[in-house]
Amino acid sequence: MNGREQNGIGMTSARTRERLIDRLKAEGIKNTVVLERMRAVPRHLFVDEALASRAYEDTALPIGFGQTISQPYIVAAMTVALIEGVSPRPTRVLEIGTGCGYQTAVLAPFVQHIYSVERIQPLLQRARSMLAELKISNVSLRHGDGWHGWRAQGPFQGILVAAAPEDVPPELCEQLDEGGRLIIPIGARGRQTLLRVTRIGEEFQREELLPVSFVPLVAGTAT
Ligand code: SAH
Repeated sequence: MNGREQNGIGMTSARTRERLIDRLKAEGIKNTVVLERMRAVPRHLFVDEALASRAYEDTALPIGFGQTISQPYIVAAMTVALIEGVSPRPTRVLEIGTGCGYQTAVLAPFVQHIYSVERIQPLLQRARSMLAELKISNVSLRHGDGWHGWRAQGPFQGILVAAAPEDVPPELCEQLDEGGRLIIPIGARGRQTLLRVTRIGEEFQREELLPVSFVPLVAGTAT
């Protein structure tokens, strides 16, 4: 570890984490393996030390560069929306918006390989070292603009987007495999909806999952 407690005491204790799991259950997360994973991933290591005491609250928190670590409920709900009822486990999943890597870490055991794209280079570097520290190795990270997906690695059985465009980027649909699922927030700030888009041949079926609040999907990259 990087000198910070992994199991710890006080606000990062097992009891504090258990309260988060109780809260997720109360909010409607029923998938027990996802709940177990939410309990296991040390969210306090993904945020600044000054915020570690709040890491097991069910809220988004700042991670620098104007970005946030997603709210645990949303991470759990997106993970469930992507993997539930899918068997065998998806082989290739694309994530857009690595951020600090928390969603990546939660999802990793449920898929064979994650390809994750982040536009802000320093965030990507931090995510890379945190995932290595947690010995999560089935992930490939790339600095790039997620609007274009990661065509060379597709098609993907799942695509999970952690930032909101106004509407679904066509290139992401093109990179979905047959039967593949795209989990994506769309809409303007303050009134976004989380969608699940499922590819059936050349049809893309849309389901509205829940109202959400994400940072915008921004075009281009930043160093
Ligand atoms: N997945 C993170 C949440 C990250 S917040 C978690 O687990 O908490 C959303 C991230 O999307 C930010 O880091 C932001 O920089 C990134 N982002 C926004 N637009 C992007 C784009 N076009 N391509 C790649 N990443 C993008």
